[in-house]
Amino acid sequence: MTKTVNHRIVLASRPKGRPTPENFRLEEAPVPEPAEGEILCRTIYLSLDPYMRGRMNEGPSYARPVEIGEVMEGGTVGQVLRSRLEGFAEGDLVVGRGGWQSFAMFRKGDVEKIDSSLAPISTALGVLGMPGRTAYVGLREIGKPKAGETLVVAAASGPVGSVVGQIARIRGCRVVGIAGSGAKCDFVVNELGFDLCLDHHAADFPDQLRAACPDGVDVYWENVGGRVLEAVFPLLNNFARVPVCGLIAWYNATELPPGPDRTPLILRQILTRRLILRGFIVRDFAPGDFLTDVGGWIRDGRLRYREDIRDGLENAPAALIGLLEGENFGKLLVRVAPDPS
Ligand code: NDP
Repeated sequence: MTKTVNHRIVLASRPKGRPTPENFRLEEAPVPEPAEGEILCRTIYLSLDPYMRGRMNEGPSYARPVEIGEVMEGGTVGQVLRSRLEGFAEGDLVVGRGGWQSFAMFRKGDVEKIDSSLAPISTALGVLGMPGRTAYVGLREIGKPKAGETLVVAAASGPVGSVVGQIARIRGCRVVGIAGSGAKCDFVVNELGFDLCLDHHAADFPDQLRAACPDGVDVYWENVGGRVLEAVFPLLNNFARVPVCGLIAWYNATELPPGPDRTPLILRQILTRRLILRGFIVRDFAPGDFLTDVGGWIRDGRLRYREDIRDGLENAPAALIGLLEGENFGKLLVRVAPDPS
């Protein structure tokens, strides 16, 4: 046993609606020694992602929930401290699903090496990791943006939305972003190169969106649901594609929203406009040329990204609670230990 302590955050209770700090508990545990076929890693970065809210609920979804008392799930970048797994040596930098803890054990197939000469290692959790890959494969398989078309995406300054919009610009689309503040909208237009960006909090947001899309919408990348979906849906053109990626506006909801049942209207529009709405999870599709293409666009300066890094594992619960309300500005990461690269 090493003398060092493993700090870990477990699910203490299941939230009702918005999570609170009491739903999490910081614990100390001994750091185990790797058995044959395992590597022990020190966590450097922990990724915080919207899907984690779903894992805190009981009941079936596309992945099993985190159990009460279990370490919160999460993608991590780490450094190998001790290896008993062929192909991995002390000091190697790796990406895997280490969870909310300062040390994590991995077995073969659970972890991949990172080439730190290509990009900062934190990007393995963002633009060059799961969120970037989500954008890349969802556009390739479902969105299929074509030059001259209009694409709309919300959470546009975040890791998925920012990559969606920038790839669509590279493909020759007109891209309208939606974000939650003036500062985020400025970044989306001035740094990421979207044609326009609108703040969804504006009282006249639906009118602004209609004016921003005079030729309608050909691809609506669904990241949020809620008010944004309501505003976009009437603007969808014939044969529009809607990759249904996330519905963050409803992740904390405890009941259906009030109001008349609009299912007939929505289905009629799907029929008459011949819309394609398709839900997907990133792992449904092979990455293909994701790393080559997105890595190349980053090197060429055609694709940019922003990270929002918080220090200290103990700050992860508050950061995740804030993420669900738009407090992050860029890919949300927790620096659990100093970055050695
Ligand atoms: P972000 O880092 O962009 O964070 C989420 C953002 O959502 C917030 O910053 C906020 O941005 C926005 N938001 C929160 N509440 C609302 C609301 N009520 N209405 C509108 N916007 C809201 O997240 P990611 O880029 O990591 O993820 C984006 C979406 O993609 C999520 O829904 C996530 O669940 C989904 N996803 C799906 C995957 C899949 O495999 N299907 C894989 C990865 C992500 P703002 O302040 O700009 O509104």
